[in-house]
Amino acid sequence: MRINTVLARSISDTRGYPTIETILTAGSFSATASIPSGKSTGTHEAFELRDADGGVTRAIENVNDEIAHALVGRDFDSIDELDAFLIQLDGTKNKSRLGANAILSVSIAAMRLSALMENIPLWDAIAKRTGTTQQAPRLYVNVINGGVHADFRLPFQEYILVVEGNTNEALPIAHEAFTKLGELLRTHDTDVPMGDEGGYAPTFDTLEQPFELLASLVAEYPGTSIALDAAASELFHNGAYQLLGKSYSADELLAFYRELVERFPLHSIEDPFDEDSVTDFIRLTAMLEDFSTPLGAKKVLVVGDDLTVTNPVRISQAMKYKEINAVLIKPNQIGTVRETILAVQETYTADCKVIASHRSGETDDTFIADFARGIGAHGIKAGGFGQKERLEKYDRLLAIEREAETR
Ligand code: PEP
Ligand code: MG
Repeated sequence: MRINTVLARSISDTRGYPTIETILTAGSFSATASIPSGKSTGTHEAFELRDADGGVTRAIENVNDEIAHALVGRDFDSIDELDAFLIQLDGTKNKSRLGANAILSVSIAAMRLSALMENIPLWDAIAKRTGTTQQAPRLYVNVINGGVHADFRLPFQEYILVVEGNTNEALPIAHEAFTKLGELLRTHDTDVPMGDEGGYAPTFDTLEQPFELLASLVAEYPGTSIALDAAASELFHNGAYQLLGKSYSADELLAFYRELVERFPLHSIEDPFDEDSVTDFIRLTAMLEDFSTPLGAKKVLVVGDDLTVTNPVRISQAMKYKEINAVLIKPNQIGTVRETILAVQETYTADCKVIASHRSGETDDTFIADFARGIGAHGIKAGGFGQKERLEKYDRLLAIEREAETR
């Protein structure tokens, strides 16, 4: 592959914050990628380069100047080689010089270019590059937003309805359940705002109430279950977890999770403890080995996000010590497609599940939908239905499904 032109510019994400979009051309082909941004970011994530005022001017300059000069006219035998070149050009451990946002925008656009040149769909190119069998991911629809995504109106960050099956069957069920939930919530409170990820952001008096409500939906819609992203690093202060005005030790939180899986149809729990509380992850994963999920998956999944940050080395450690049995994969936590794929491969080597994920600050880029399908992910987190940028991911999944059926 030989890149002819590289052009980065600033666009707005779903919070109205600036983020980077990059357009690459090669021959008669052109491809664009834009990069989302997290709010509950793990401290071990690759470095998102921002100006002092939150802008992305320096990241854009890095693409338009240094990266463009280094890439344009150079021949790459593969996109793996191109990604390796970008990693080397940056030269830091966490991409702090050029910025993981700058680098990833080029890496994803290059992946798109290579699929166009091969004349195959992006999801297929991703499956080939990863060595995976494509498959429809379960929809993990974030129906109730809390934590930093909703000004802590609720302590936990994401209350998710998991819907089994192909996207064309799962999506109408998810839509119906989402609308129903809105009606139910408005019987409690007429003012239910939307959170950052396009889900409802209500308040409740107890930790159990949102689960009771979701369990009633699960009872009504077969093939659904509940997932939780506690995003517990955000709740951890001075060695304890702050939940609805009460302080919980790790032992008390562990006991609370046990009660949750005993009472409610839980499919998975993400980031149940602070990102560095490794032994607590191990204790929960061991405890949940014996609990089967309502939908016959082997066990209730314990998912690493801030713990593993899509970093193959951290994932390998987490697998070795059985800290978790599933991994959340977010390309911008690591900064190139190549390393994101390595993170997936590392997870699969340990026979664990992958859930591909968007970020809380999104763009209209639907790369994550192709990625989830291509790697045959167990699930995809793409948010609630209250934001256009989330709906675009679901629409892309539908389009991919049609494409896959006709090939
Ligand atoms: C998450 O924590 O899984 C998430 C998607 O949120 P953010 O993008 O804010 O990290
Ligand atoms: Mg998370």
